[in-house]
Amino acid sequence: AIAEIKTVTEKTLAANGNVMAEAENKSASLQEMRRKLNEYKRLAYIDSLTGLFNRRAFDDRMASAFAKYRKLGGCALILADIDHFKRFNDTYGHPVGDRVLTAVGQSLAKFAGRNIFVARPGGEEFALIAENMSAEEAGRLAELVRQEVASINFEIKGGGKIDPVTISLGVSMADDALDGVEFYQNSDLALYSSKNGGRNRTTVYSMELRGALSNSRLMYTKAI
Ligand code: GH3
Ligand code: MG
Ligand code: MG
Repeated sequence: AIAEIKTVTEKTLAANGNVMAEAENKSASLQEMRRKLNEYKRLAYIDSLTGLFNRRAFDDRMASAFAKYRKLGGCALILADIDHFKRFNDTYGHPVGDRVLTAVGQSLAKFAGRNIFVARPGGEEFALIAENMSAEEAGRLAELVRQEVASINFEIKGGGKIDPVTISLGVSMADDALDGVEFYQNSDLALYSSKNGGRNRTTVYSMELRGALSNSRLMYTKAI
């Protein structure tokens, strides 16, 4: 009887061991699946060319930032657009244009931090959402970004330099807008003013600017 009990116990232990090994296997592959899923989720919010946040991430962040700061104040949207970028593509080709975008992205990434979110919402347009900042501070930040980009040294393989790359910037504050769309439009209006004023400069949005530009902006929108 003892021998029989011993055999049965050994069999049970072996079976338990198998179940345990199988469970461990399953949990390892589940963990691997979870890791992959998280990686895909992360990639869904990243712009593959520059490594910055993409349009999807920008839209999400704009919505949450506006909801948080619309009354509180202290949140700026800085829009930056490369000057005469079409010329770069036309003169040096699309691949060089892509390298310019990557380099500008790297320059802007230096400003990213806990309070500063940096994205490439699309094309040759970049955006920074800066929290806990006054309009004056955001204007100064935009100027630092502009100078950083203007100081990039581009060289072409085999020698030769390409024209300096500059950006125009527009800044507005969340508490100057009634909704998220207006928040974006105000910075865009300020950006348009920078383009209109000769490019490679920063404009901070104000009510006066809106009045002065609304007519020409309408013409500009129609023209493109
Ligand atoms: P402005 O100073 O008024 O902004 O002039 P611009 O030439 O920069 O503006 P425009 O909107 O006329 O041209 C933008 C160009 O950006 C056109 C488009 O081909 C180029 N572009 C947009 N996305 C990419 C991209 O991912 N790679 C490259 N190489 N070019 C791009
Ligand atoms: Mg543009
Ligand atoms: Mg441009």
